[in-house]
Amino acid sequence: MSLSGYPHFTLAEAAPGVYAALAGDTGACIGNAAIIDLGDRTLVFDTFQTVVAAADLRRAALALTGRSAALSVISHWHSDHTGGAQVFDDAPILATARTCELIAGEDPGDLDAYTAEIDAWLDRMRLLRDTAKTGHQRARAENNLKVAGLLKDEAPGFRFTVPAPLDGDGMTFEGSERTVEVVSYGGGHTESDLFAHVPDADLVVAGDLLWVRNHPRVDDGDPVAWAEILERIDGLGVRSVIPGHGGIGGKADLDYLAGYLRTMADLVDDALTAGLDTEALGAIPAPGGSEDWDGTARFYGSLTSLTGLGSG
Ligand SMILES: [Zn+2]
Repeated sequence: MSLSGYPHFTLAEAAPGVYAALAGDTGACIGNAAIIDLGDRTLVFDTFQTVVAAADLRRAALALTGRSAALSVISHWHSDHTGGAQVFDDAPILATARTCELIAGEDPGDLDAYTAEIDAWLDRMRLLRDTAKTGHQRARAENNLKVAGLLKDEAPGFRFTVPAPLDGDGMTFEGSERTVEVVSYGGGHTESDLFAHVPDADLVVAGDLLWVRNHPRVDDGDPVAWAEILERIDGLGVRSVIPGHGGIGGKADLDYLAGYLRTMADLVDDALTAGLDTEALGAIPAPGGSEDWDGTARFYGSLTSLTGLGSG
C-alpha cells in the first residue's frame, strides 16, 4: 500500500484508515480532501477543484482501501472542494441542503457559458499578474492562472455536479469497523459548513472550518459564528484535524484560529468605528502569530469584504 504516486496531492495517514490528501502546487488542487475507511466501505470527503485531481483521489481510495467511494460528502460550496465531484457520481454525493442550493446557484448552464467564465477569470488573473503591486498579488495571480488553465483544458469533459441533501444537520454512517458522523453546526466559513467526526480516532475532517498556517478566506463567512463552531468542535475532544488548507493540525490549531477570527471581528468593528479607508485597512497587521502564514492577501481581502469596502 503506497502513499506515493499522486502528483497533485500528498497522502498522509492521519489515523489508521484515515488519509489526508493534502493539496500540492500543480494547480489541480487548492483545498485538501480525505479518504476514510469504515471497514466495509469507503467515504471520500471533498473532491478537489479539478477532474484530474479527483480521478487521482478515486484511484488513491481504491489503492488504500480496496474500494472506490461508497459515499462522498462535500464540506461547503466553494469550487476548490467540489469541482471534481463528477468523478464520484456513481455513488451518493451528499452535502447540507443549503450547500446544495448554493452549489446549484453556481451552475453555468452550458459548456459555452462555463468556458466564458474560465476565460474571464484568465483575463482577470493575467491583468492582476501584469499589474501586481506586491509579490503576494503576483504569486496569487500565477497560481490562479495554473488552476484556470487546467480547468480550461478539461472543460469539454466537465459535468456540473450538484450533491444531494443530507438528512437534517447530520448523518451517522456505520461501517463494520468504525462510525463516522457527518455534522453541520451551521455556517461560519460559508452559510453552511459541514465536517466529519471520526470518534474512534479523536479526529475531525474539518473542510474549510480549519486552515493551518494559511490565512483563512472569511469573505463569504461570519468570523464570530465561525469561532463558535471551532469552539464546539474543540469540545468534541479532538486530537487531530485534517484542515481544508494546510497540513494536518490539532487542538492548538482550532484554538488559535478561533482567536484569530475573534480578533478579525474586533478589527472590523474598530475599522468601521474609525471610518478607515482601504489604504488604512492595508496597514493593519495580521493577528499575532500568523505573520509568516501563506495567503496574506486573503487576510486583507477578508477585512476589505467584512468592512464593506471591497468592490465585491
Ligand atoms: Zn472554502
